Amino acid sequence: MRYVMCGNCGRRLCKAESATQAEFEIECPKCGEAALAILKGNELLIRPKPQRDKPPQQ
Ligand SMILES: [Zn+2]
Repeated sequence: MRYVMCGNCGRRLCKAESATQAEFEIECPKCGEAALAILKGNELLIRPKPQRDKPPQQ
């Protein structure tokens, strides 16, 4: 079983177990940091979620 931790403050956000592949978005209730958790077998990656309030540059 693996835990997804907030990359900003370290708070435990949720747990994941026995997933072949899963991807979910979470927002830390403590500091509000949004993150994208990607679970592939035994590998757990956490990436900061891209900000959406900035307009794309053209
Ligand atoms: Zn946090």
